[in-house]
Amino acid sequence: MDSTQKPYATITSPETPADIHTDILLLGGGIAGLYLLKLLGNLGYDCILIEKDQLGSGQTLQSQGIIHGGLKYALGGNLNAESDAIKEMPDRWRKLLAGEETVDLSNTKVIAKTQHMWSAGKLASKFTSFFASKLVRGRIDKLKKDQMPALFQAQQFTGSVYKLTDLVVDTPSLLNNLCQGVEQRILQGEATSFGTDETGNITSSNVTLSNNKSVQIHHQTVIFSAGAGNESLANLADIKSAPMQRRPLHMVMAKHNLPYPLYAHGLGTGSKPRITITSHATDDGKMVWYLGGEIAESGINRDSESQIIEGKKELNALFPWVDFGDTEWATFFVDRAEPLQRGLIKPDCAYAHEEKNAIVTWPTKLTLAPDLGDRILALIKQQGVTQNTYSNELSSLPKASIAIQKWESLFV
Ligand SMILES: Cc1cc2nc3c(=O)[nH]c(=O)nc-3n(C[C@H](O)[C@H](O)[C@H](O)COP(=O)(O)OP(=O)(O)OC[C@H]3O[C@@H](n4cnc5c(N)ncnc54)[C@H](O)[C@@H]3O)c2cc1C
Repeated sequence: MDSTQKPYATITSPETPADIHTDILLLGGGIAGLYLLKLLGNLGYDCILIEKDQLGSGQTLQSQGIIHGGLKYALGGNLNAESDAIKEMPDRWRKLLAGEETVDLSNTKVIAKTQHMWSAGKLASKFTSFFASKLVRGRIDKLKKDQMPALFQAQQFTGSVYKLTDLVVDTPSLLNNLCQGVEQRILQGEATSFGTDETGNITSSNVTLSNNKSVQIHHQTVIFSAGAGNESLANLADIKSAPMQRRPLHMVMAKHNLPYPLYAHGLGTGSKPRITITSHATDDGKMVWYLGGEIAESGINRDSESQIIEGKKELNALFPWVDFGDTEWATFFVDRAEPLQRGLIKPDCAYAHEEKNAIVTWPTKLTLAPDLGDRILALIKQQGVTQNTYSNELSSLPKASIAIQKWESLFV
């Protein structure tokens, strides 16, 4: 080495700032955190997001991507509160996807513009009257044989198929879209403690970044948008009024070369879909049928091998005319994280709750992200959070990247 050159060890990287100032700190980068980062940023608030792991690695990339209007929850016959809160969402998403809202999702891929509901045999009478009712008119259409997805055009299929106006989005492209232009504001790290003022309000968060450096982030408000991670964040902040519930699922993936993209709920005898299938292209040119619904809920007590046997049994029973012989199978467990409800029932709208100037939030469904945005905005306005400009130097700090989907990591 030339004596005028410095040894590599002394090459310095720009210093990590010890203090960062922002209007709103978001903890957790799934759909909730990333949607809010974009929404609040576009409205003029300075926001920073801290993600512990990889963006979307909790529930968001594991979701089926269905943007639904709640009809599948109304199968019991009543359009209940859940259906009311959710029924505007598909139209709201269409506006987001057309770039007509504050959050512009025009670069998000829609993988299905409609969905289907099918019944293998004769439709139970409670469904026939429900589908014919005034409540669902315009939202659901019975299809003739030649209008059905190719899979159901087989002679062997003698049941009914209905078309829903719900859509399905590609979740990686959704997260990519939300990150565009705000990449520098998404840091990888974890909050280790919170600082409070004399009134007990949380005014700063101590964060250890993934390069092991610590920063103190000063903020007017902090939003816990960490999905299942909200439980430990709330404990750390001594917040007691926003308890969480987990609903475990055991999801099944069937990877094949069949020419049948399917986005559909299979009806059984109960008031919930027996199975929900979405289809996703894989990097090696195949397709994964991603199986949720009843099979994922009841599968939590099966190990992976037994769940695969159950998946095979279910697909063979539903589509006996299709050869699934070359299909590869994989499963994984994942929890849905939601605000605690009595009896583990499903919550009926997005949730945002304030304590100590912090906001704990769960969208409860990907679909409800716009509803979540409305609720958070109302709380922030109520708190009187102001919009400021700061000169933080964030470029040298470690950034969180977007995770990959299970069908790209679990099939080897
Ligand atoms: C299998 C499955 C299928 C689903 N299908 C649908 C569907 O089709 N349609 C629909 O509307 N909804 C669906 N959902 C629900 C939907 O996916 C969730 O409601 C939504 O993704 C939750 O988003 P989130 O941002 O709150 O949480 P998450 O997506 O879980 O994101 C939380 C993020 O916070 C990070 N984090 C955790 N702890 C910390 C911490 N201490 N500090 C910083 N970061 C932290 C995590 O790493 C993660 O990236 C489904 C859910 C599951 C599990």
